[in-house]
Amino acid sequence: MSTPKLTPMLQQFLEIKKNHTDCILFFRMGDFYEMFGDDAVIASKLLDITLTSRQKSEGNKLPMCGVPHHAAENYIAKLVKLGHKVAICDQVEDPKTAKGIVRREVVQIVTPGTLASQNALEAKTNQYIAAIVPTSDRFGLAFVDSTTGEFSAAELETKAEVVQQLWAHQIKEVIIPDREGESTAFVTELKKLFSETFFFIQPEYHFAHSYALSTLTNHFATASLHGFGLQEKKLAVQAAGGLLSYLTETQKNALRHITSLRQIRLSDALVLDQNTLSSLEILSSLRTTRKEASLLGVLDHTQTAMGGRLLKKILTRPLIDVEAITKRQDAISYFIQKETALASVREQLHTINDLERLLARLSTGKGNAIDLNALANSFTPMETLRQLALQSNVELLHTLSEKITPLPELQQAITTAIKPEPAAVTGKGNMIADGYNGDLDELRSMQNNSKEWVRNLQLQERETTGINSLKVGYNGVFGYYIEVSAASSSSVPDHYIRKQTLANAERFITPELKEYEAKILGAEERIITLENQLFQSVVDQVLGQLPQIQENAEALAYIDVLSNFAFIAQRYRYIRPEINDDKRIEIIEGRHPVVEQALGTLNFIPNDTVLDSTSEQIMMITGPNMAGKSTYIRQVALLTLLAQTGSFIPAKSATIGIVDRIFTRIGASDNVAEGQSTFMVEMFETANILNNCTDRSLLILDEIGRGTSTVDGLSIAWAILEYLHGVQDQGPRTLFATHYHELIQLADQLPRLKNYNVMVKEEGNDVIFLHKITLGGLDKSYGIHVARLAGVPKEVLERAKQILVNLEESELTPEGNVRQARRQPERDKLKQLAPPPQMDLFG
Ligand code: ATP
Repeated sequence: MSTPKLTPMLQQFLEIKKNHTDCILFFRMGDFYEMFGDDAVIASKLLDITLTSRQKSEGNKLPMCGVPHHAAENYIAKLVKLGHKVAICDQVEDPKTAKGIVRREVVQIVTPGTLASQNALEAKTNQYIAAIVPTSDRFGLAFVDSTTGEFSAAELETKAEVVQQLWAHQIKEVIIPDREGESTAFVTELKKLFSETFFFIQPEYHFAHSYALSTLTNHFATASLHGFGLQEKKLAVQAAGGLLSYLTETQKNALRHITSLRQIRLSDALVLDQNTLSSLEILSSLRTTRKEASLLGVLDHTQTAMGGRLLKKILTRPLIDVEAITKRQDAISYFIQKETALASVREQLHTINDLERLLARLSTGKGNAIDLNALANSFTPMETLRQLALQSNVELLHTLSEKITPLPELQQAITTAIKPEPAAVTGKGNMIADGYNGDLDELRSMQNNSKEWVRNLQLQERETTGINSLKVGYNGVFGYYIEVSAASSSSVPDHYIRKQTLANAERFITPELKEYEAKILGAEERIITLENQLFQSVVDQVLGQLPQIQENAEALAYIDVLSNFAFIAQRYRYIRPEINDDKRIEIIEGRHPVVEQALGTLNFIPNDTVLDSTSEQIMMITGPNMAGKSTYIRQVALLTLLAQTGSFIPAKSATIGIVDRIFTRIGASDNVAEGQSTFMVEMFETANILNNCTDRSLLILDEIGRGTSTVDGLSIAWAILEYLHGVQDQGPRTLFATHYHELIQLADQLPRLKNYNVMVKEEGNDVIFLHKITLGGLDKSYGIHVARLAGVPKEVLERAKQILVNLEESELTPEGNVRQARRQPERDKLKQLAPPPQMDLFG
């Protein structure tokens, strides 16, 4: 039996689908995008649209569903956000002129990291895709944001560094070369950490070194990658080349806006691992989606989207070089002193559009005339900003002003060519200004004058024929015609050609009328072609200046962030900390930047901090629940981090000795999905800290040992403190909050450990939290008071008090039984732990 014959259209579909098996194929048919087969079954469910079927061949039906093309963007975004790739297959020739079936091609593959529709993009958030090339001992890593053109790569030594980078970039999509088993295992591991990221395995040859190298050198038109400092970094080249191939394959365009490849350097930044970024709530809050509940939320008053994106990078990558930090501080100080300069800088920035995204759209053929105007309008404030930065006597602002080139000729070229309010759609005319091009003006006037021409012709024909009822009209079938009532039809002149007979009238054409018609109809098409050409030539002029405009954008973003820090400092009373290379932190009247905003500055109690790796290395803070221990230790970490970004900080005064890494172990979080208990997670994190901290690090340890039984937890906390203190004369600066008041006595043995507590005042049965950190330990818990505040029933509270008294006085179990025998060995064990073991930790 012969195979049933498929329709040509289905044959075409299957042919295209064969090369895009990992995508849902949107197949353009008329005004719809249709999906067939499994794609239709999946999409109809996810998009909640009706599933129908189409006769594939005799007795053989193919599932099918479709969406109107004008609404496709939203449907595509929905599928992509659910982790699918969508291949958009368009008609690439005019159906009117096509011979046989219309040619169709995939014009773009939309993926989670390349979803560039306006409503899917957040202005102040980059949209990165990463490529990772893992080997047994090193990793190649590259990032690209196709919506701005940012492209960077690195060769990293540990998986932890890869994870940290993915986290800091808030990655949406990762590609990994297909290397049987190896890649799958790595992806499985990463998926557990990044549950909202999409991972795609790609053919390995794109990542082969020679292929990747030539992809990159061809793209940048360079002989090697020496200029980018990456020639010798084989794995970085593999990742970057593989990523660029992937982008070219999915975007199907030249990606001219990707003009350089930067090296990611880990050594020049303060390392904030994933844990620290999330538990210090730097970019987002752990508990709420409210933006203000994060450090970024409080600090982000940037005026441009570019500045907003840069601020995120700066907060996740604070500096470790005193000089670089001081340069930023100088710029911020300048703006604070020159209030009018600050106000005008912010005012000018406010009028600047998102140059990076404009350029990305224009260079990938998605830009429109409104984008061109937005670009041109940004040049004037740019010049003012250049002047303002130049007028300062500050080195960093001078350097930035030198990077700004306002390009007046290009601005002029755009404003003379483009209408002030052009069409938002490219390719349908109404983009080019009147008076810009003689031919275009003539064609337009012809089009505009057609009504008048028709009216004149009608008058003229009525006069010459004497038929007063004569009318000149137009319809889509015959074009222009002269209509005469049936009664007068015998008086028409000989050169009228009869075209149609209606019940009461006759319709005629004349050679003159047809000639005019051809001109008018041709004019519209010619206007569109000419406008497209003129538009493209302006776009080409813009693209000719691409690297320069990108440099402008970078400099403006930087000025935006610096002036933002100045604005914040003024608004929230932040001060300039002194930064040096000592291993000491001294903060007078420090405030938590986020909690302060939530409570109102007057309600927030400021606190001091002294940490010194050679003398006051460990601050151990005891205090009841709710006293403010967690707030305080996070505050110290946030102020240190913020100081190292160059920003001013909420305090009365401060001296910050550079920190190389901030480690945090905060709160107990289960990772049930991975089969790890709360305590296991706590110990993993603790192990990581103990193994990787240096005597330049800052450690924030909250309630270590809380996840297990009291004696166990206490023993572990005790041993960790001894380990961190070590026997050397210095160690990492550490804030250790605990509710184990037994640990207070450790200060007798560890000279660099100081006890602090958060003050409370007892008034009768009430406990008042003063939120003030003072020297000395606190050997009492107030758990029952907190339980009362939380509304735990009275009976439970009364009983709890009774048990507490029993436990404290007579070592009884809660049931009232003597437990001395069982407790004794545990107590002995604790005593044995007392003398610090001799360990060489940080030598
Ligand atoms: P727990 O042991 O229960 O975690 P804690 O001692 O760590 O408690 P925090 O969570 O830091 O306490 O603080 C409890 C509340 O006290 C915070 O939500 C905040 O509203 C308030 N608070 C903390 N510090 C201050 C401060 N310095 N000034 C004013 N209020 C504060």
